Amino acid sequence: MVNTKTFINEILRDYERKRDRALREKEMRVEDIYHRIPRIAEIDQEITKVSIGISRSILNQSEDPEKALQSLKDKLNALKQEKAYLLTENNIPVQYLEVQYQCSHCQDRGFLPSGEKCSCFKQQLINKAYSMSNLSDILKKENFQSFNINLFSNEIAPGQETSPQNNMLEVLNICEGFVFNFDKQNEENLLFYGPTGLGKTFLTNCIAKALLDKGKIVVYQTAFKIFEVLEAIRFHNSQDKDHYQLLFDADLLIIDDLGTEITNTFTNSELFNIINSRLLSNKKTLISTNLTLKEIMNNYDDRIFSRLFSKYTLLKFFGNDLRWQT
Ligand SMILES: [Zn+2]
Repeated sequence: MVNTKTFINEILRDYERKRDRALREKEMRVEDIYHRIPRIAEIDQEITKVSIGISRSILNQSEDPEKALQSLKDKLNALKQEKAYLLTENNIPVQYLEVQYQCSHCQDRGFLPSGEKCSCFKQQLINKAYSMSNLSDILKKENFQSFNINLFSNEIAPGQETSPQNNMLEVLNICEGFVFNFDKQNEENLLFYGPTGLGKTFLTNCIAKALLDKGKIVVYQTAFKIFEVLEAIRFHNSQDKDHYQLLFDADLLIIDDLGTEITNTFTNSELFNIINSRLLSNKKTLISTNLTLKEIMNNYDDRIFSRLFSKYTLLKFFGNDLRWQT
């Protein structure tokens, strides 16, 4: 099951592998140096011996512990100096014999001594979420920063109560609020509806990016693809269970292009299952569709319809197709 916990466990296992590799590589470098400069192997053995000598019990047996300690320390320093000298003479950087961690802050542990998550851990969570979202590339271009409200007309068309631009400002406001309050258990879900080319997908991407950057697991999937996965599992014994489980476990599930799939009893009951399970477990969902509300009503059974209408904020997109204006 792929949920946040296994997700984190995977990253922690990765750290373990990284540490093991770093240690192994260090051992190999040491072996190599011992082979090239045998004196260094001797020095290391002596250093170990001297270090063991600086133990309480041995010093206690000596008549003048302080003097004994000083002489051991001198010896240790002399050995270290000789080693450093040999390395320099052979053009080998001193760090060559140290463990090379990828992250020097946490030494590939993921956590700082204070117990806090290291920034490399946080970054990995974000990367992982990105790679699972199916969105990595597009989000570089489509995000709240690049959203251009001026693409929307500020003229009120006959029969409309507001201009596309004002409507979009309101939609934008709600979307930003959705992101801002994402961690609150406020049962907020979004349904974008309206014809293509009015910025639905763009805004969906804005929300996805903002949440991914907060470290949330966002999964984007077209309705068509979702039912393809579901069908493969149900009827063709597909083993793609991780993919399936993500539909339930993702912090935000984005179902794009609802209505492009073939609707039948199977898709209706599966869609209801996803929508309802996510509502029950307080997970948020964003659905985008080119259908009108009436078409949604006609295409889906009552249970789905009533969930969408009672538990989702319905956001209407209207105006002229923006794709001709850019
Ligand atoms: Zn780190």
